[in-house]
Amino acid sequence: NPAVRDRLRIAIQKSGRLSEPARALLASAGLSWRESRDRLFCYGESLPVDLLLVRDDDIPGLIADGVCDLGIVGRNVLAEQAGERSETGKPAVFREWRALGFGGCRLAVAVPDGWDWQGPQQLAGKRVATTYPNQLRAWLREQRVEADIVVLNGSVEIAPRLGQADAICDLVSSGATLAANQLKPVLDVMRSEAVLAGPVQPFGDVRAELADLLLRRMDGVLRIRDSKLLLFQTRRDALPQVLQLLPDAEPPTMCAIDGADTLALQALCHGAMTWQRLEDLKRAGARGLMVLPVERMLA
Ligand code: ATP
Ligand code: MG
Repeated sequence: NPAVRDRLRIAIQKSGRLSEPARALLASAGLSWRESRDRLFCYGESLPVDLLLVRDDDIPGLIADGVCDLGIVGRNVLAEQAGERSETGKPAVFREWRALGFGGCRLAVAVPDGWDWQGPQQLAGKRVATTYPNQLRAWLREQRVEADIVVLNGSVEIAPRLGQADAICDLVSSGATLAANQLKPVLDVMRSEAVLAGPVQPFGDVRAELADLLLRRMDGVLRIRDSKLLLFQTRRDALPQVLQLLPDAEPPTMCAIDGADTLALQALCHGAMTWQRLEDLKRAGARGLMVLPVERMLA
């Protein structure tokens, strides 16, 4: 990636499952943009970080060609194109930098409802339709199963009904699409989520510092995504029972009030703070419980 640039360019999906959460994540890392008229390019205003809005399939290639520096894309797409490069003897030029915690799904093998599934060996000699031939091929190889891969670009789930394939390997989240096509998922080839993708080689110019800054901010956002600040008071003797109910909390800040018998605490909790949990805490001796959202954190 020899071209020297003084702005960082990030590719995200133009419209689809990952576009909104990707923008929201970047915005919460402090980026803001001015959108161009064609809505393909967003000029970074708060930082020299621009966005390119593209098809998700194009993102790994844009990083490979040095057109973009980073990208937000499904691990499934990144792994598929990395697999394709390695099959054709090309060097690895992009890799996953961070898992981003949204866009979760799995690449699963699904078979017709009527099959009595016994295991991967059942796919031997069968035709399996997929949009992810490299991952399916690698997985079949690992399982030592020889099957025919039918590569389709879309509507994989109807291939068995059309007689194009016997089984499929496709992305699943709820499984509703499979069920509607009389298919059932039988095993996972990979677990996927949106990832931040970047080059294997570090940047040799100011983009290195920009990427570092962005990563640190994103880590801060990701770390506190479901976190809440819990404020409460408790009598000193009830403290052990109360803390036992907070295994997901950072070591709390405490101060003694009321002549040292009562403690006021604040604890950053990483798990969900449900009513049930608050009621349990109250029973254990916590009083005046308050749950506060956490917007930012800089460690
Ligand atoms: P594009 O027009 O950008 O090519 P697309 O149709 O290929 O869009 P989407 O359907 O928006 O892409 O999915 C983008 C990513 O969302 C997938 O690659 C995958 O990582 C993730 N994803 C999460 N859940 C699902 C699901 N149920 N089906 C498909 N993809 C899912
Ligand atoms: Mg796509």
